[in-house]
Amino acid sequence: MRHGSIPGASGRVRPLTLLGDPVLHTACEEVTDFGPGLARLVEDMFATMYAAQGVGLAANQIGVGKRVFVYDCPDDDDVRHLGHVINARLVEADGETVRGPEGCLSLPGLEAGTPRFDHAVVEGVDVRGEPVRVHGTGWFARCLQHECDHLEGSVYTDRVTGWRRRRVLRAAARASWNTV
Ligand SMILES: [Zn+2]
Repeated sequence: MRHGSIPGASGRVRPLTLLGDPVLHTACEEVTDFGPGLARLVEDMFATMYAAQGVGLAANQIGVGKRVFVYDCPDDDDVRHLGHVINARLVEADGETVRGPEGCLSLPGLEAGTPRFDHAVVEGVDVRGEPVRVHGTGWFARCLQHECDHLEGSVYTDRVTGWRRRRVLRAAARASWNTV
């Protein structure tokens, strides 16, 4: 991405992978090729995230099993956070645990109360291989933990328990019949 360009402006909107697709349930691989294909992937991910009105998107949500995510997400103080992380690792997740409504572009139209830490730090690199460290609180901390879960092959419903879990999985099953 050139400085001053709008992320996703030159990207292509790709089809989203949905709950049950194996690529969503498999740990993503490290990125080793920092060629132009990587910058294109990040552009496509921004375009896809904005088209779907999401606040974050992991590469396996468009069928690419690489450790990459993008975000454009406010925190609880309405500060906007915008960026991407390659080879992202959740290095800190602590503070209060908050159960709040969480959704995912791979389970469209659904949400469930999901416990997350109130503070999170992610480290990785950008498309040029330069180190990045992203710090989040509140809603943005939730987003960072959600995206890192995707990179480990996990989705938020894996963290939902009891009746909340039964309800969201039933709704997901109904939704997938309706879209066949
Ligand atoms: Zn998600």
